[in-house]
Amino acid sequence: MKAITVEPKIPGTAMFADVPEPVPGGGSVLVEAIAVGVCGTDIEIVEGKYGWAPPGKRSLVLGHESLGRVIDPGPSGGLQKGDLVVGIVRRPDPVPCPNCAVGEWDMCRNGQYTERGIKQIDGFMSERWRIEPEYAMKVDRTLGLLGVLLEPTTVVAKAWEQVDLVGRRAFWEPRTALVTGAGPIGLLAAMVGRQRGLDVHVLSRETSGSKPDLVRDLGATYHSGSVKDVGFEPDVIIECTGVGQVISDSVQVIGAGGVVCLTGVGSGGRLVGPSTADVAAEMVLQNNIIVGSVNANKRHWFKAGQALGRADRSWLGRLVTRRERPEDFARALQRENDDIKVVVQFAEV
Ligand SMILES: [Zn+2]
Repeated sequence: MKAITVEPKIPGTAMFADVPEPVPGGGSVLVEAIAVGVCGTDIEIVEGKYGWAPPGKRSLVLGHESLGRVIDPGPSGGLQKGDLVVGIVRRPDPVPCPNCAVGEWDMCRNGQYTERGIKQIDGFMSERWRIEPEYAMKVDRTLGLLGVLLEPTTVVAKAWEQVDLVGRRAFWEPRTALVTGAGPIGLLAAMVGRQRGLDVHVLSRETSGSKPDLVRDLGATYHSGSVKDVGFEPDVIIECTGVGQVISDSVQVIGAGGVVCLTGVGSGGRLVGPSTADVAAEMVLQNNIIVGSVNANKRHWFKAGQALGRADRSWLGRLVTRRERPEDFARALQRENDDIKVVVQFAEV
């Protein structure tokens, strides 16, 4: 069968290659790939900056934002032939650490977790893949291709849960939320914020194109420019850019007792404005929280499925801005103007 493979840490090695059929050891559920979403992590792996091949192998099958159709559910009773499923990405570390031991592998303490398509387990960009039944999430059939948005939605489901958990240390009835960044994560975070009944604002660089419209069509308010100029003190900020200045500004505009949840991963950059100690002083005096959030456990996968199930299908459909054939995967990995979510499509839904 065909797959998109890469030799991790070696740039320019991604290819559309022949690989063996998936072996039953990879899981008792056999799945036909429908689509796989592409994100910044895939681009970093292809650029040779990230990623680990399975032990004893040189290449890794890419892809972690999956959607597939069950060909053979195997002996476990939970799935049927034809079901649409998405594969959970992370597996607990083998030690395991206390968090992995209780199923909270998203909070792994020792970093020895593995991840499909990223760290030591083949991903989902192959015509067929196998998965353990307990890591196959069945998705609402009416979502069709939009089930491919489940994995990015798990990231925001966890982020919102973290916000609630830390917010509840005191009286907690948030009314306003600011989301920084209007990529797939930012837009999905805004969608979940609206589902929670919050007054949601989204800040991003674009002044035209589809993103401002997508935000307004959620019933949220779009801002471009600086976080400092949004004109209110949010109860919650979901930070999705990873840009240092945006993070620093977010910590300064958050309301007293508010929560800044960082989901973006960036590096470098320069800051204009107060020093770290000045920012920290303001946090102390306002009882603010900054919480980092990455990945998702099974509870978040379930909640993400609920969020997508409730979402307007035509709005979700506008997030998938490009579909490329597997042989054209290189095109899928190139960012184009106004791209939101690009998917590699292996089969029709
Ligand atoms: Zn662990």
